[in-house]
Amino acid sequence: MRSLTDLTDTALVAAVEACGGKPFQARQILHWLWRHGVDDFAQMSNVPARLRSSLAERFTVRCSSVARVDAAADGTEKLLVRLGDGETVECVLIPEGDRTTLCISTQVGCPVGCVFCASGMFGVKRNLTTAEISEQVLLAQARLQAPRRLTNLVVMGMGEPMLNLDALLPALQRIHDPDGIDMGARRITVSTSGYPRQMERFAAADPAYNLAVSLHAADDELRRRLVPSATHAVQDIVAAAHQYFGRKGREVTYEVVLLEGINDRPEDAVTMVDALGALPCTVNLIPWNPVEELALAGGLRRPSSARVDAFADALRRGGLKVTVRRQRGADRSAACGQLRLRAADSAPRA
Ligand code: SF4
Repeated sequence: MRSLTDLTDTALVAAVEACGGKPFQARQILHWLWRHGVDDFAQMSNVPARLRSSLAERFTVRCSSVARVDAAADGTEKLLVRLGDGETVECVLIPEGDRTTLCISTQVGCPVGCVFCASGMFGVKRNLTTAEISEQVLLAQARLQAPRRLTNLVVMGMGEPMLNLDALLPALQRIHDPDGIDMGARRITVSTSGYPRQMERFAAADPAYNLAVSLHAADDELRRRLVPSATHAVQDIVAAAHQYFGRKGREVTYEVVLLEGINDRPEDAVTMVDALGALPCTVNLIPWNPVEELALAGGLRRPSSARVDAFADALRRGGLKVTVRRQRGADRSAACGQLRLRAADSAPRA
C-alpha cells in the first residue's frame, strides 16, 4: 500500500478529495505528516474520522520504520531503518553540544565501492524513494527529547546522492519547506564522490544547500585505487565544485578519509595543496573508522593522531583551511554501513 508521505502536495489533495475531503484538509494532513511527524491516522485529531478511515483503506501513513538502534556512549545513535520491501538503510544521529546532526542515506547499498566503506561492499540494490529519504528525518526527530532538536542534516550515509537526484531534490524540498520539516538550506549538506554533470544539475536546483566532495586523494591514480568506480578526473570534479561555489556562494568542503601509508603521506599533502590550495574551500580530514572485514582483506589501517596532525599541518602550510573530524560512536559499528552489515544475520530488536 502506498504511504501518504509518498504523495506530492497535488497528489495529496487529489487523494483527500477522492476520499470525500476538502483541499484545506489536505493541508492539515500535510502538517500532521511533516510538521508534527505523526505515524498514525488516529493522531490527526482535526481531521474527521470518516476521512481518516477512508484514507486508511488506501494508504499507510509512512513507508518505513526503525528496526534497530545502536547507541554509543557519546550519545551517537545509529538507526537501522526498515523500508516497505524489507530492505534496510542506516541513518546516524550525532548530538554534540547544542547541535544535533543527522546523517541520512539515499540508496540501498552503494555503487561507488570505496575500498574503505562497508556500504559499498555489495554494490547498490536500488535508489530510495523521495519518501524513504525524507522519512529518515521524521524517524530520527522522534527519538529526540525536548529541548534537543535536529539542527543539521548531512546527506552522507549509504549511497551516492548525485545518482539519485530525482528522488533527493524533492526530498530536500520537503525537509526545507516551511510547510514540511522546515530546516534551513544552510543547515543541509549534500556529499558526493564526484559526478560533475550531476553536480551541475544540483547547482541549478534551488535553494542553495552546502556541497561536500569526498575527494580522498588529489592524484587520479591513487583516487581510482580508493574509489574504484571514479571515472572523472580530479581536475573535473574540482572544477564542478568550484562552479557550485561560483553559482551558490557556498564554500565547498572536501572530505578526505585518511588511511595510514596510503593517502596520508607527505606527497599526498603536496598534490592536495596543488589541486585545492588556490580555492576557497575547507578540507575535512576523517581518520578511517576501521571495518574489520575491509581491514583484514585490504590491509587498511587508521592513521595515528600524529600522522593525522602532520598531514593537517602540511595542508595548512599550503594555505588550506583544515578540520579534523573527531571519532564519534566508536564503540558501536561506527563506520557507514556497519550496522546494516552486522544486522544482516540477526533479528530486528527495536
Ligand atoms: S563512502 Fe560513501 S560513496 Fe563510498 S562506498 Fe561508502 S557510501 Fe558509497
